[in-house]
Amino acid sequence: MSPQNDKIDDFVHVPRVAYFSMEIALANDIPTYSGGLGVLAGDTLRAAADMALPMVAVSLVSRAGYFRQEIDADGRQLEHEDTWDPSAHASQLGAVVALDMEGRRVWVGGWLYVVRARSGGTIPVLLLDTDLPVNQPEDRNITHYLYGGDEAYRIKQEVVLGVGGVAMLQALGFKLNSYHMNEGHSAFLTLALLRRFAYPANDLRPGDSPYDLPRVRDLCVFTTHTPVEAGHDRFAYDLVQRIYGDLLDRATIKLLAGPDRLNMTQLALSLSEYVNGVAKRHAETSRRLFPGYAVHAVTNGVHSSTWTHLHFGALYDLNIPGWCHEPELLSRADRIDDADIWEAHVQCKQDLIDRVRQLTGVVFDPDKPILGFARRMTAYKRPEMLFADIERLKAIAGKRPFQLVMAGKAHPKDTEGKQLIEALHRHMRELADVIPMAFLTNYDMELALAMVAGSDVWLNTPLRPYEASGTSGMKAAFNGVPQLSVLDGWWLEGCTEGVTGWAIGDDSAAANGRDAVSLYDKLEQVVLPLWYDNRAGWIAVMKGAISKNAAYFNSQRMMRRYATEAYLR
Ligand SMILES: *Cc1c(COP(=O)(O)O)cnc(C)c1O
Repeated sequence: MSPQNDKIDDFVHVPRVAYFSMEIALANDIPTYSGGLGVLAGDTLRAAADMALPMVAVSLVSRAGYFRQEIDADGRQLEHEDTWDPSAHASQLGAVVALDMEGRRVWVGGWLYVVRARSGGTIPVLLLDTDLPVNQPEDRNITHYLYGGDEAYRIKQEVVLGVGGVAMLQALGFKLNSYHMNEGHSAFLTLALLRRFAYPANDLRPGDSPYDLPRVRDLCVFTTHTPVEAGHDRFAYDLVQRIYGDLLDRATIKLLAGPDRLNMTQLALSLSEYVNGVAKRHAETSRRLFPGYAVHAVTNGVHSSTWTHLHFGALYDLNIPGWCHEPELLSRADRIDDADIWEAHVQCKQDLIDRVRQLTGVVFDPDKPILGFARRMTAYKRPEMLFADIERLKAIAGKRPFQLVMAGKAHPKDTEGKQLIEALHRHMRELADVIPMAFLTNYDMELALAMVAGSDVWLNTPLRPYEASGTSGMKAAFNGVPQLSVLDGWWLEGCTEGVTGWAIGDDSAAANGRDAVSLYDKLEQVVLPLWYDNRAGWIAVMKGAISKNAAYFNSQRMMRRYATEAYLR
């Protein structure tokens, strides 16, 4: 069926859960995501479609995408608009809703995109769009640039997402059981709900609040993703008021969202009956950050069929039928023949080697291990850790050679992140004769799958406790690729030393400064010797990653928990 034929009427009969996210990775050729948060949102909807859960998602259309990355000869990142045409993938919504911002009327239209599962399940996604001829020129681009612009632009986007989203759902006739905020960007939706369910003025006695807080709280679910105070959106009340007018009365809003600035996380926390962090450690960190709130832990997962390479998918189909829908069946991966596991890996690895040669001209040797590292390039991910001691690194590679493939975008305003990309390119030039290395530009879902499946070891080096969860190591597990990672986020739950992969350092914050030494020790004394000298032992770890980690850290398990604990309260 062509997307233009999708009809909203097919979706409004059943009451649904509304899932709000600033970014959603719907498909590789739809650039409406920047990284892990968007991929998680996409995997959430793909799992919900598998299970035929009654959900509807709301996001922005982001016509100019996040950005397309190019790297110049000096290793500097260049950013290009990554425009896409919604009409090629989605059908236009038959409704527009009005918002008043900066005293102007802003009309919000949108698009219906449908996430389809192999099982036949579908999830409608509303992509809000202000690029309408009736709008003032300056308002037409509010929904263009994902995480672009200044603070005022960001507030307008968040008003469109939260308030516009609630209005659009109502205009289209959706009946909703709950509103799930994926991160705080959509928290203005709580204000829209407070206004909608306000008691009529003539029912109130003087001094009574018109707002039905318990009713709104009962409707809302909030997933926080940020483990540090500075990561949360906080806006000056005056700026928000200049854009969006009188929110509620100032006293009520300050009680809900913070005394000095409007903290979007605080607002979501105050008005959500169910709140969760995205890994057990992250929930603990969040409880310390926001004392007094019951923060549950629902550890993230990734979507089985999306993140399993062709060759492993075929192997699982043969040996473990039903694994896509019920990934816990992968706990039986130890039944698969060692030779078949290795052969599937060799094929994934060859695909990556071909891609690296095509894209960069660098030639990797299939008989040497490939280390993979790819994620958003930002300081806390510490992509430079492998290069902390160049002499030690050379010595390790001298004894047992390895190769390195890297990728990742830095946010256009993240100067430090961009400098890290430049530094990686300097190391690549300096070490070209010792360690074959390639940096693949424009990290996206397709590249991510090729890299997590084709590497021999997946590397992750975040600064504790900044990695709320992390998900790329889970994708690697679906392809039998073990992780070598700092103990933070999901890896605290997923690492069984020498069985599913290996830990860098321990789980204390004090270990942060010693991680590079630990990384070198593990590589030199444990990981590389096992790869070179004990193939059966290596394949046992590959099977451990599949049977213990892919079987658990999947979005099907995650969605069953959201469904039973958050949505069916
Ligand atoms: C999975 C994924 C991420 C997130 O990876 P982390 O290891 O959690 O940082 C980011 N970008 C893309 C394109 C991905 O596929």
